[in-house]
Parts: sequence; C-alpha cells; structure tokens
Amino acid sequence: MANLALKQYRRLVIKVGSSLLVDDKGRLDRAWLHTLADDISYLMENNHEVLIVSSGAIAIGSAVLGINKRRARLEDLQAAAAAGQVQLVHAYQEVLGEHGISAAQILLTPDDTENRRRFLNARGTLGRLIDQSVVPIINENDTVATEEIRYGDNDRLAARVAQLVMADALILLSDVDGFYTADPGKNPDAEHIPEVATITSDMLAMAGETRSDIGSGGMATKVQAARIATHAGCSTIISSGAVDYPLHALSAAGRCTLFKAEGTPAAARKQWLAGVLEVRGEIRIDDGAARALHAGNSLLPVGVVEVLGNFRRGDVVTVVGPNGRELGRGLAEYSNNDALRLCGCQSANIEETLGYKGRSVMIHRDELVLFDSDS
Ligand code: GLU
Repeated sequence: MANLALKQYRRLVIKVGSSLLVDDKGRLDRAWLHTLADDISYLMENNHEVLIVSSGAIAIGSAVLGINKRRARLEDLQAAAAAGQVQLVHAYQEVLGEHGISAAQILLTPDDTENRRRFLNARGTLGRLIDQSVVPIINENDTVATEEIRYGDNDRLAARVAQLVMADALILLSDVDGFYTADPGKNPDAEHIPEVATITSDMLAMAGETRSDIGSGGMATKVQAARIATHAGCSTIISSGAVDYPLHALSAAGRCTLFKAEGTPAAARKQWLAGVLEVRGEIRIDDGAARALHAGNSLLPVGVVEVLGNFRRGDVVTVVGPNGRELGRGLAEYSNNDALRLCGCQSANIEETLGYKGRSVMIHRDELVLFDSDS
C-alpha cells in the first residue's frame, strides 16, 4: 500500500457503513471484509492505531429474524440489532484473527460520550485496548437505546468516538466518494469538493439534500460528523468503501473529501477543559508531582497532599501547587472522598486502600490543562 495520504495520521477511527457490508437480503459480504482486514493489518504493521465503528447489526438481524425493516416496530429493530450484532462482530473477529489481530466489542449509548464519568470509563477502556493492539469494533447499543436517547446514526457516533479517543483522523467509508456541491445522482453539474477548510452552514444545507447509503446516515450526518470531529482536532475523510481494499485505494490517491482539522486533538481537549465553568474542587499536590505534570505526566495519588471540595469522578477540579498557586485543572478520576483516602498513596497500594480496584492516576494527562509552564 502506498499509504501516502494516511501516513500523517496515527490514530484512525474508521466508520463502515451498512451498505458496504450487507446486501439487501441481509447477507454479509465476507470477501470485502477480508480486504478491509488486510488493509487494517497493513496499517497496524505501519504503526497506525485503528478503531472501527461498524453499522450493519440491524440489517443482518432483520434477515435473521425475518423482519421487514420498513414496517418494523422499535422493539423489532432492537431485537434485530441484538441478533445481528453477534454475527457482525464475529465476522470481524474472524477476518482480523487471520492476521493474528484480536477484536473487542464496544457498544455505546450517548451517555457514554456526553456524561463525563462514563466518558472517562469509555476512554480508559478504549485506551487500554489500543495499547494492546486490539481493534475495538464499536456500534451503538441499539438494543437499549430508544429514539430520545440515541445517536441514531453511526456517522455521528464515530465522530464522538474520534473525539473521545483523540483520534487524528476519522474515515467515513460509505457508497459515496466525497462531498459534492449538489446530489451527483440528480444533478450532472454537481462538483466534487476534494478539500474543505471550514464547514459552512451552506454546506450543511447542501448536504441535507444529498442522498447516501442504505444506513441511517445520509450526507447530512456525514457533514455533521465532520464538524464534530474537526472541532476536536480530528481530520475527517469521506471516501468510497465500495471497492476492495478501500483504505489502500484511499491511500493510493483515491477520490475523497478531506475536512481539515482545526488544531490538534490535544489542543481541542485542553481548550474545552479551560472553558468549563463549573469547578467542583481542589487537589493540592507536592513539588515532585508539580514537576511531573510540567514534564507531561499524569497526576498520581502519591503526589496529592490535600483534597478540598465536593466532587464526583469526572468533575473538573483545580490543581494547586505547593506554593498555593493554581497550576491548572483537570477531570478527577476519583470522587473527593476516595481522593482524600488516596492522598500520598503509592499506585501499588490503591486497591488495598480503597477496597476495590481503582484507577492508577488521579488526573490523566490527556484530561489536564496547565495554565503556564514556568512554575
Ligand atoms: N447501529 C445501526 C446498525 O448497526 C446502524 C446505524 C447507521 O446505519 O448509521 O445496524
């Protein structure tokens, strides 16, 4: 694989649309999936980290249960998702397994990316899987998510995942090869746009009129996904997956639309943290910990000397140095009660102190913003 275009992006979230994987009889296209797995294996050998967001559960499950998707009730679709998801993930497990790669199933609901406590859990688990070179296969938890609590489409779910894991690029694979000025199926003058620096409201309106694949998302959800991801510092690529070896094809200068990231994922995360108004508590740390933070490390319980305020895991707290100066702020991995019990605790003794297996850090470095670096 030439891999020119993707080389600059280390952590990739790849969204696979239903129409690529499943035909109208609900049969999985294993031959195509094999080519995707070959591409993923190549990327991982070349130091990329890969997460998959895959649709297809409802399409597969509808065939298994003999459900007509158009006339189906919500509980039919939820049952179909349950029956289809197991086959979907099994297929990924098989094709990746042939390359010696393990797959892991992750089912998310909006709460997992919008609620900060659950966000920390999902981020921690995904981070661990990525560290172990396991490929997370992510879908919406359709069996429990109902209308009012759904992402509804996997384009936006994939964008939230990209934001969660601070991905460098989000690749939306579907049956369209990019963004056009009009629906190319209806308008012969529609022009393909290879690169977008800023997503305008005109583009969102234009996307609303454009058709796309058989899944829930159309072009509108793809542009909305691009907006979420690019704001989070993650470049977004809309590219056709309707070819074998779709990532190889993309790398070999295949036609696509690139929505350029605004800044970096780390800068976006820090900007967001800096802007949170509700600060719930304070963690005072010793000199060694302050130096460790400025060297780019996480805050460990051993460096904590005092805990003030009333906060829960996932709340924003200020970090105060030995001279009483505010050093920065971050998301607490522990509630104030547990943080207090862990003051000065060595990481190896956390479980013994708390009576349960806790997190190894008090504030993870990705969830920490320092106000300046000369203190
Ligand atoms: N979560 C749905 C499924 O797996 C797909 C949603 C979408 O097509 O965007 O069937």
